[in-house]
Amino acid sequence: MFLHKEMIGNFGKLFICTTPIGNLADVSFRLIETLKNADLIIAEDTRTSRKLLNRYDIKKHEMQSYHDNSSVQKTENIIERLKKGENIALVSESGTPLISDPGYKIVKRCIDENIAVTVIPGPSAAISALVASGLSVDKFIFIGFLPRQKQKIKNELEKLRNLPFTLIFYESPKRLLKLLDIILEIFGDRNACIAREITKIHEEFLRGNMLRLLDYLRKKEDSGQSLKGEIVLVVEGDTEIKIKDFKLDEIKNLLSGLIKKGLGRKEAFREIMNEYDIDRKSLYKIYITIK
Ligand code: SAM
Repeated sequence: MFLHKEMIGNFGKLFICTTPIGNLADVSFRLIETLKNADLIIAEDTRTSRKLLNRYDIKKHEMQSYHDNSSVQKTENIIERLKKGENIALVSESGTPLISDPGYKIVKRCIDENIAVTVIPGPSAAISALVASGLSVDKFIFIGFLPRQKQKIKNELEKLRNLPFTLIFYESPKRLLKLLDIILEIFGDRNACIAREITKIHEEFLRGNMLRLLDYLRKKEDSGQSLKGEIVLVVEGDTEIKIKDFKLDEIKNLLSGLIKKGLGRKEAFREIMNEYDIDRKSLYKIYITIK
């Protein structure tokens, strides 16, 4: 295998800097130091990022706006500056750059050019919502924003329906009711959490099954108080396994034993299905949790 190691040399470094998702106090010492010492800060929205910089007295910094459809020339200028030894900080409007936000293209270009890329870890709405949701965090999938069109949403959800992993969606409050309705139709009545305005004054976590959440939101809307602000929707994965609970561990152990022994998936499934009253779909759900 070819191991890709950054060349360092006299090149500068690209720092992927996470920033608060609402509460400006959610910063690390390292973030402030990095922003202070950067030769250039590239930001999705320079006006939003200025607010953060002003709060921490980082005043005279050169800033440029940057997003994934910025011109090739702009990207190449940034690459040239890194090659000359400048250190550049990348920030998005909030949270972790690249996560439903710009940055992927510049990171990819740096890696192609052997320029070191590092990260200053910190907030992301997705992980914050997940850990406060009360839903399983063992395995999860980040979906981000779904397409706008109903049929396309349905097609995406169909692909996710049988996965036993917690799902994380970003959605605007205006489209939330419509999304919950479609989720109910495709997934059935699962548990979910609506995480709203995380770390801000009106932070709230609405937890419950889909029917209850829909009922609550409809009543709210009817009384003229529709949901506002930023929202993450966390939805329980498909947990329905058609086997009695007491046999689940037994099957899990047997399956991982067979796989470790070198048996192919199909063969291992066949052996288990000969012995237990379990269908292939349920067995697959167990399989992907132990893989
Ligand atoms: N890069 C960001 C991150 O790491 O979370 C996400 C940026 S994405 C363009 C913006 C979406 O993130 C919002 O529409 C909302 O779904 C979610 N979001 C951001 N901040 C939030 C907050 N404070 N509370 C709830 N959701 C938030």
